[in-house]
Amino acid sequence: MSELLNFNYPPEQAVERITFFADVILPLPLPKLYTYRIPFEMNDEVVVGARVIVQFGSKKVLSCIVAEIHQNAPADYQAKYILDVLDDKPIITTPQLRLFKWIADYYMCTLGEVINAALPAALKLSSESRIQLHPHYNPEEDELILAPQEEKIIYALQQNQALTFTDVGNLLQIKSYHKFIKSLIQKEAIIIYEQVSDKFSPKVVKKVRISEHFVQDEGMLEELFNQLAPQPKQLDVLLNYLQKVPVHQDIHLNYKGIAKNELTNSPHLSASSINTLIKKGVLEQFDQVVSRFPVEHQHKLLPMTLSEHQAKAKDEILGQFKEKDTVLLHGVTGSGKTEVYIDLIKHALESGGQVLYLLPEIALTAQIVQRLMKVFGEKLGVYHSKFSDNERAEVWQGILSGRFQVVVGVRSSVFLPFHDLSLVIIDEEHESSYKQYDPAPRYNARETALMMAHLQSAKTLLGSATPSVETYYNCKTGRWGLVEMTKRFGEAQLPDIELVNTREEQHRKNMHSHFSGKLLTAIEERLSRKEQVILFQNRRGYAPFISCDECSWIPKCKHCAVSLSYHKYNNELRCHYCGYHERMPHDCPACGATTLKSMGFGTEKVEDELKLLLPSADVQRMDLDTTKKKNSYQQIIADFETGKTNVLVGTQMVTKGLDFEHVSLVGILNADTIINFPDFRAHERAYQLFVQVSGRAGRKEKPGAVIIQTRDPLQPIFRKVRSNDYQSLYEHEIDERMRFGYPPFVRMIKVIVKHADERVAENAAIVLAKDLTDRLGKQQVLGPEVPYIFKIRNLFLQEVHIKLPRETTNLRTAKGQIAQAIFNLKLLPDFKDVRVVADVDPA
Ligand SMILES: [Zn+2]
Ligand SMILES: [Zn+2]
Repeated sequence: MSELLNFNYPPEQAVERITFFADVILPLPLPKLYTYRIPFEMNDEVVVGARVIVQFGSKKVLSCIVAEIHQNAPADYQAKYILDVLDDKPIITTPQLRLFKWIADYYMCTLGEVINAALPAALKLSSESRIQLHPHYNPEEDELILAPQEEKIIYALQQNQALTFTDVGNLLQIKSYHKFIKSLIQKEAIIIYEQVSDKFSPKVVKKVRISEHFVQDEGMLEELFNQLAPQPKQLDVLLNYLQKVPVHQDIHLNYKGIAKNELTNSPHLSASSINTLIKKGVLEQFDQVVSRFPVEHQHKLLPMTLSEHQAKAKDEILGQFKEKDTVLLHGVTGSGKTEVYIDLIKHALESGGQVLYLLPEIALTAQIVQRLMKVFGEKLGVYHSKFSDNERAEVWQGILSGRFQVVVGVRSSVFLPFHDLSLVIIDEEHESSYKQYDPAPRYNARETALMMAHLQSAKTLLGSATPSVETYYNCKTGRWGLVEMTKRFGEAQLPDIELVNTREEQHRKNMHSHFSGKLLTAIEERLSRKEQVILFQNRRGYAPFISCDECSWIPKCKHCAVSLSYHKYNNELRCHYCGYHERMPHDCPACGATTLKSMGFGTEKVEDELKLLLPSADVQRMDLDTTKKKNSYQQIIADFETGKTNVLVGTQMVTKGLDFEHVSLVGILNADTIINFPDFRAHERAYQLFVQVSGRAGRKEKPGAVIIQTRDPLQPIFRKVRSNDYQSLYEHEIDERMRFGYPPFVRMIKVIVKHADERVAENAAIVLAKDLTDRLGKQQVLGPEVPYIFKIRNLFLQEVHIKLPRETTNLRTAKGQIAQAIFNLKLLPDFKDVRVVADVDPA
């Protein structure tokens, strides 16, 4: 590189080389960017958006992102040199960098925190990062041209299995060793991983092909046919192979071969004849490493024609996009919004842009991925939180390289390196899980995606059967477009909703534990007709708490102010906030009585009791506890889909994104705890939940039914759910929001103060609230108050709520004031180790 530089410049200029500096974003919660000096020989190599290696502090060496290049030396410190350049091209695009700055600003966190959340770990390197040999690189056989230093690294890896970056530095005895690591990664000789548990294991497919010497010329192949004539089964295998891999047309096709199971798939071919052919040396078996994102080579475009309503909705959306950047598609459950999305994505791809299709975590199922794969094939990338770091890094690189043009993904997909977006779809836009609670950045993926679309001049389509009040308000005031779909796909009807008064049923002795007689009979009836049932209960575990009948003792978490939930399958008491768990005691530790009783009920108890009450039920449970393993979620769905199970009991997980043809009944076991939640969004959430879960019942020919158990059937929300009356819900809610000052009329910022000492937390919150009141005005600051759950993970919590009227507040100034107040608080000696967190637009 430096030679090139000299060649391009006249010698006298080369002597006076310009000194450049780079402002870098370290993946750490630092308040500002740090400036490093670019060594002359790297002047041409360092680019904005690429990773460089720097030393931070006295020991730590890590990778960071170049945010800016300039010629101004920092005024207050001596800039250190950049040690190495990792990328010759940016891995973060310019629009992405602008978005990250917006996130840091808007959600009141640091750019380092955003970068840290955004980059897959495999793209973040530090002195603790580890390398291992690439799982399919064999140093003995594969002939790679390696520099002597690279050979040294490979040799050491053969002895040690894994090395940290520091080890490599020590091994080579040089400071700039990163380029060798980078080169080895590019040659696919090594990979990086963060933890042992994260080791990259490639997906391998067993393939077969005809042994090479038989396909060298046609004569050989003919000879082979003659030899196999007495064994018709083996001959069949060979013919089948040649049919699928026309070697006689192109001899090179044989090299790629065919997946072994594809060859055995044909009904009359047995695996044993294939194995015999392998033993004879006619066929040879080999492993091929495949991408984790299965490529559907045959673009079997679904014969997808939109229904009349869908086509109309699509045209309306496109029409509104001409005037507005954002449109809401409000379609009842089962109206077939996905088909409309797919059509719009195709439309967007034809004009050459990229598309992001956002879904909440629980709605991104294998069902939807397969459907999209069939349409978009290898252009589709999938971004899921259950993926390993290496898989995520693969999607990241795939978007940069142009391999993926459509990405379907969860919340964190808003961090991906799009640079040419033309359409963003935010499905189930009302979902609260789009908001990240902890750690920073506490962003809402819906708002972030809207900003991302804005920065790249893309259009945004929000979709929901039960839109959030804020979104609907934007449509009603004309800021956003609105398209409605009021009919279900096909001739399907919305389900009948019946309320069961559990208070009355109890009086009549008609409750069987948590099941009303009506619900039980209804379940039994469906099962006898070979139909399926979904039961919804908003709590996991067996019981939310247990209590001593004698002395009323209730076990509590040692670290949080919550009772421990009872999990029967492992006889454990568990905290759902911090994960603390202990064995269920046999006697009451307070009085010694053996009368410990479980109170309330969770999904596990529903499952347990139903098995006793209805032996004909094959019950499967779907909640956080049963879906921890990578494929367990898929397995539960597959079992239900194929009819192996006929009752699915679950939490919120069963309410979204699933379409089962044979479900004709949905039961909501306890509606009251959902409605009576202390939050200004409780009614909106309850409505959304009831409508969404009801939407799982009934398809084309089979009208569905929903049974809701409640102690208060006169609660007005049920009327709105039953008549599917979103309008009246919206009008009631927006009215209340206006009267009591809630979003969308105000912006809320919640400031949480945490400390291990209850008194310190309280005093700090009082001081902070006072300062905030002085700065923002009395009307704007509420609290401090003790939250409902006042201790989590040994830290006592206090909250200050800030309400900023949307019309009259300069948000940037107000946030500056809040940041200053927090900063000042921490300068006080009493409160220097108090933790303060600002949560903008809390969910
Ligand atoms: Zn007791
Ligand atoms: Zn806890």
